[in-house]
Amino acid sequence: MSIKKNPKNSRKTKIGSTLLILAGVLLAVYLFMPRRKLPRVPYSVFIQQVQNGQVLEVQINRGQIVYLLKEENQQEPFLTTTRINDPKLLTRLEDNKVRFQAAPPKNPWFAILLNWVIPPIILVVAFQFFMNRGPQGSLSISKSKAKVYVEGESEKITFTDIAGVEEAKTELTEIVDFLKTPKRFTEIGARIPKGLLLVGPPGTGKTLLAKAVAGEARVPFFSISGSEFVELFVGTGAARVRDLFEQAKKKAPCIIFIDEIDAIGKSRTSGNFYSGGNDEREQTLNQLLTEMDGFGAGDLTVIVLAATNRPEALDAALLRPGRFDRQVLVDRPDLVGREAILNIYAKKVRLGEDVDLHKIAVRTPGFGGADLANLVNEAALLAARNKRETVAQVDFSEAIERVVAGLEKRSRVLSDREKKIVAYHEVGHALVAALMPGSGKVEKISIVPRGMAALGYTLQLPTEEKFLRDEAEIRGQIATFLGGRAAEEIVFGNITTGASGDLQKATDFAEQMVTTYGMSKVLGPLAYERRGQGGFLSNEGVNPRRLVSEKTAEAIDNEVKEIVDKAHQQALEVLNYNRDLLEKISQQILEKEVIEGEKLYELLEEVRSPWEKNF
Ligand code: ZN
Repeated sequence: MSIKKNPKNSRKTKIGSTLLILAGVLLAVYLFMPRRKLPRVPYSVFIQQVQNGQVLEVQINRGQIVYLLKEENQQEPFLTTTRINDPKLLTRLEDNKVRFQAAPPKNPWFAILLNWVIPPIILVVAFQFFMNRGPQGSLSISKSKAKVYVEGESEKITFTDIAGVEEAKTELTEIVDFLKTPKRFTEIGARIPKGLLLVGPPGTGKTLLAKAVAGEARVPFFSISGSEFVELFVGTGAARVRDLFEQAKKKAPCIIFIDEIDAIGKSRTSGNFYSGGNDEREQTLNQLLTEMDGFGAGDLTVIVLAATNRPEALDAALLRPGRFDRQVLVDRPDLVGREAILNIYAKKVRLGEDVDLHKIAVRTPGFGGADLANLVNEAALLAARNKRETVAQVDFSEAIERVVAGLEKRSRVLSDREKKIVAYHEVGHALVAALMPGSGKVEKISIVPRGMAALGYTLQLPTEEKFLRDEAEIRGQIATFLGGRAAEEIVFGNITTGASGDLQKATDFAEQMVTTYGMSKVLGPLAYERRGQGGFLSNEGVNPRRLVSEKTAEAIDNEVKEIVDKAHQQALEVLNYNRDLLEKISQQILEKEVIEGEKLYELLEEVRSPWEKNF
């Protein structure tokens, strides 16, 4: 694949900049041209000098008077102003026999040139210069910044390079057919769809899919990001859209890929007003709609693929028939999908014999294609750093932790007391997790600080792929989040700031139980939260609640508090009941910094339930 550059543009830019510099120099010379500086004299002094008979000659210009004194060696003229309108000036000069004259006119052509011709030329040249900056220039105004990928044999992306999104691939195969043999469809009278929306969370390979469609159909691929349409200059987005479609039509059949289309296609009624941007976006959006409605009537096949992770935020006008009327879901891959993706990326590195990609796939739920690519690369880097010939399973294990928890930072030093607190805190999480349902298996406890946030961490990995969780499991998870804080309370009698993230998560979960999942005994199976205002398929971002009465809001708050309190109580009970074990594991972890695998499983086997057969 190669990116086509336009050589004509860069030459234009050169000429433009030369002219601009030239014009700038001319202007500077004009403005700062050295003029004789005459000593200024107050008007009253001048009149006095006239009346004293000291003045030899006067030259009256508009607004100022230049005069010479009679003194013999005084050849230097003086300057005074006549802002004071003095009707008696001429009489005074005549009375005192002063020679006077009006100023000789300047060369009129020169004045006209300076005042009326050069400034517009400078403006025009400057404007031309900015207009002609190529697509690479940050100041380009109307040219679309679309990158054109023309199919090159060497690095063509096809569907075989993509895994884990089988349904999306099936649907896109149809698009490939449209691009390859448009006649087959148009001759029978079918209308080829113009727009298709790829919907899914970030990092799931939407761009890659679009490129693969172009690769399969062997057509050019224009790619631009929605945010690029509306950046920098107001009023340029629409022009960019027009330009992009013009370029594309010349290359038809082809694909236009618009990433982050929500940047321009945000719903006009969603009330997301920030000053200025709204009008601009609307114009850009309207232009896009006009272009999409305009083409396709003839035999030009231009298919617009657009990607978004917030389909619910898009303007309804975009989704109407004839525009983006098809949607393809590109979701995070499941277990099988992840293994397939790993297979693709693992081909690019030298794998050791012990590598089990299935196991890696099991340990990486929630990873998207981009994350998995990153994971394989991290593993390869680690292997190389450890001077291994091939990438081993150990490298993958460490890479997973790195990607999940950020890079290990051994350089960060904790005080002994801090280390102790972190140790008990993390073991607290682990003990509660070992006992509570729904928490997944505790794989590792570490008090080596990682990345930005966590001072220590307890790594839990789900033993199986899970899509549904029941109430007991969520409650167990909330108790696990609170286990760290509970341990601090029991051992040190006070709480540190380290537990704030845990509390946040625990409270979020409790609130979701009540407001989203209908697991509340008081409120019943009602959804008090509006879905779809937050990010796509994610629990991030606090959703605004449905309008509820004050009474209901209070009831929600009470129940959330009750859930968290109860989980906290459970965590305290578990840790008090297993106080000796808490001590034992904490001491070990303080010594070794990390406990994992079999050794950890053995230790956690010893956890006893304070409620005996309740679990
Ligand atoms: Zn914690």
